[in-house]
Order: sequence, then structure tokens, then C-alpha cells
Amino acid sequence: MSRLMTIPRKSRKSLLVWLFVVLILPAPSRAATKVIIDTDPGVDDALAVVLAFRSPDLEILGLTTIFGNVETELATQNALRLVEMSGKTIPVAQGAVKPLYMKKLDPPDFVHGKDGFGNVDLPPPTGRPIAQPAAAFIVETVMAHPGEVTLVVLGPMTNIALALALEPELPQYVKAVVAMGGVLEVMGNVSPVASANILGDPHAADIVLGTDWNVTLVPGDTTRQVKITDDFLARIRDHGGSTGRFLHDISLFYRDFYRSVGATDGFYAHDPTAMAFVIDPSLFRTEERAVRVVTEGMAIGEVIAATERHYSEPGPWFGIPKASITSEVDSQGVLDLLEKTLTETIGKVAR
Ligand code: CA
Repeated sequence: MSRLMTIPRKSRKSLLVWLFVVLILPAPSRAATKVIIDTDPGVDDALAVVLAFRSPDLEILGLTTIFGNVETELATQNALRLVEMSGKTIPVAQGAVKPLYMKKLDPPDFVHGKDGFGNVDLPPPTGRPIAQPAAAFIVETVMAHPGEVTLVVLGPMTNIALALALEPELPQYVKAVVAMGGVLEVMGNVSPVASANILGDPHAADIVLGTDWNVTLVPGDTTRQVKITDDFLARIRDHGGSTGRFLHDISLFYRDFYRSVGATDGFYAHDPTAMAFVIDPSLFRTEERAVRVVTEGMAIGEVIAATERHYSEPGPWFGIPKASITSEVDSQGVLDLLEKTLTETIGKVAR
């Protein structure tokens, strides 16, 4: 008697059904994650947005724009340029032109160039943004796809805070929020304790990171571990089609800025690293923290990330909603994902 025959008839039947499911049926293909990208392009934003456009794991429902690396209107022009380069039809919704309460900071044109794209002198885009403002577009799009949309936040978080004010039930409908910004252990780039995306609108960041929803912060501590070298850029230029050449050309100004401040072994891939987290979170480790942002005084823009000891015991942090923060990154894994996606031409012509 075969071994199978010694198994009771009922169990035998379920075993055969299980074998059929595992061995015969094709594995279900992973559905692409629906994302809205809130962005202030920006050189590293361009790298992140093109990475998203080319990733088979993401479906881009729209771009929303924000001040930061450039003024909001130029961010919108640059977002339209990126969409047109991709050959895709993706709506661009213009966002807030200033922070919720703070005076707006001047764009850092010494980092990204006056045009946000390394002063490469591009022609104007042919398209226009949709009439709907960014916050309303975010609300409408998220509510139309309950539990499916991830918000990828690559600049100051004003639009997301405004969307939360427009629709208080938004947190129950959003799948996830992934935001780039903040520093925990490393030194800030715009103050000793603050990074540009957070100081750009600290009140908005405090609202977004302090809301009880599935939010992950990808801080500078993580993104500064992923460095783009000249050799990497040359490979993107040589194997990434016209978009690869564009990304190479706009990155030179940005690279030179980082060189001037001592980062000689490559520039930081801030926004692409956050996008890589959305595409493949297995490249990261996260920690559960309760996060708030300082909104006044000399420490304005500082991200404070309490550990369990603080938020689970009586005290000022007790009961603050928990967020995730990336704590470790497989840097080479992120770079490999970036290079593969930006140079992949199988089945399509690299633009
Ligand atoms: Ca950005």
C-alpha cells in the first residue's frame, strides 16, 4: 500500500486539493501598488519619480506638487516635464504654495539649480496641471480606492496635512504613507536638528507623522547610506535611454554641491531610497516609534521618535500614535533596484 493510502480518505482529499493549488495553479501575480507621489522636483525627486514610473510594482495615480527644492509653480512644471518624458498620461495636481503657519524658506538653488534640474535649460512642458488642487485630488483619489493608495511624500508635508483637514476619515482609507525626511542620529542639513523636508513645514510634518495611520518615515540616517557614484551615473547615462541621459545630466550640479560639502564618494539618494522602500520594503528594517515634530524655538523641525518605553508608560508621550521609522537599509540592494529599473529595456524602448 502506498504511503498516501495510509492517510484517512478525508485528509487525502484535502492533501490532493492542497497539492493542486500549490503545484498546478499559477501563482497570483502581485498587484501593482497604487501610489500618489507628492514631490518638489528637484534632482533626487526626478530620480525617484522616474524610478516609480518604470517600476512594474507601482501604478502611479498622480503627482502632486509642493514647494521645497523649488517654488510650487516650478515644481508643477518639472512634474509635468517628468510625466511627458515618460510618455505616460498621469495627472499633475498643483499643491500649496506656502507652509501652514511658518514663513516659507527660500528654495536651495545652490543644491538643485535655479530650475530644480541642475540648470540644464529645458523647454517648457506642453501639458498643464489639472484644475483640482493637490489636497482635493489626494482626498478624491484615495476615497475612490479605499485601502489601496500609498502616499509617497518627497517634500514638505503641507498637501498631506491639508488633505487630512479636508477629509478627517482619510486615515481609514489610505493604505500607507511613506515620507522622506528628518534626522535622528545624524546632523541636520538645514539646522543641527532639522532636515529640509521637515523644516519646510514643521507643523504639517507634526500632523502627518503624529496621525494614527500606517505611516513610515525614511529619515536622512537611512538615505545617507545610499550613495550614487559617478560610475553609477555613467551607467544610467549609457544604458537608460534618453531619460537616463537626462537623469545623468541634471545630477551633475547636485553631485558638485555634495562634493563641495565633503561628500566625495557619491551623493545621497534621499528620495529614490524612500521610493525603494515603497517598491521593496524587504530591503529595510523598521522600528516602531511614536513620532512628533518640534514646531517652535531653536529646535524647530526636529523629529523626536519615542521608543516603547516612552509611549507605553505614563508620561507626556503615553498614547501618542505609533509610526514606523526605517532603521537599517541594504544600500547595495537599493542601488541595484535603482540601476536595474532605470536601465531596464526589456520589452520596451528606453526613453
Ligand atoms: Ca524632494
